[in-house]
Amino acid sequence: MHKPLAGQIALVTGASSGIGEGVAHALADAGAHVAINYHAHAEPAEKLAAAINGKGGEAFAVGADVADETQVDAMFDAVVRRWGTLDIVIANSGLQQDAKFTELTLADWRKVIDTNLTGQFLTAQRAVREFERRGMRDVSKALGKVICMSSVHEVIPWAGHVNYAASKGGIQMMMKSLAQEVAPQRIRVNGIAPGAIRTPINRDAWDRPDQLDKLLTLIPYGRIGEVEDIGRAAVWLASDDSDYVVGTTLFVDGGMTLYPGFADNG
Ligand code: NAD
Repeated sequence: MHKPLAGQIALVTGASSGIGEGVAHALADAGAHVAINYHAHAEPAEKLAAAINGKGGEAFAVGADVADETQVDAMFDAVVRRWGTLDIVIANSGLQQDAKFTELTLADWRKVIDTNLTGQFLTAQRAVREFERRGMRDVSKALGKVICMSSVHEVIPWAGHVNYAASKGGIQMMMKSLAQEVAPQRIRVNGIAPGAIRTPINRDAWDRPDQLDKLLTLIPYGRIGEVEDIGRAAVWLASDDSDYVVGTTLFVDGGMTLYPGFADNG
């Protein structure tokens, strides 16, 4: 089997469930060592690490709240202590705290911005510092790769989810501005914007047939996404196959951003 990430070391935040878990499996299958970040509960992350180790890969679980600078430092230290450095960082942690705008509390605004946007800032900053510290390695044409897990809501407004959409819009400009800043050092920063992917974050949208039917009206390609769809995109964006891709958001959304409401003349 082709291993485009052989010899590379990856960290995936929020990897004990959903998209992060799918991405961790895909990176491991592509030959990378994978550090699996979890927030509160170690057990699912340890189970995932054991599953990857069990199929001949290399993985370990590392706890950290991505919104906490000290914990993010400790997470990177743990990876560097174990494997010497890292080459690929997937800033994936995220959450939703939904409410009608007039009822959205400051606490829920802050929680989502802190986790989704500040968490990616801290994660990306530590990644870039580590890439710069250790210099070029002969495992990739790039000094390092950062992938920011965004959302179609970096461009699609979302009533009732103002904090979430604002966080993802912020991720888009953070990703692009950072990509512009560090591209001369051959650090590639890109984003992935998933559409509707079957994970715990959006269970309400797919676990009942009527809800799934409603969701499918938003997806021209006619199916919900699976975490493997995002895993394959992450492997490509992390590999030298995408070496000339810099500062781009890759939409993996079955066409959700094609304005399907206009498909029959609006
Ligand atoms: P999920 O709930 O399964 O995963 C989110 C992960 O983030 C969880 O493992 C959670 O523990 C972790 N997390 C939350 N707060 C954290 C913190 N403070 N520190 C560290 N980790 C924390 O949902 P998912 O769908 O897999 O979401 C993963 C990412 O994909 C998120 O950024 C989400 O916004 C994005 N996304 C998902 C979809 C979708 O349809 N599922 C669509 C677009 C974007």
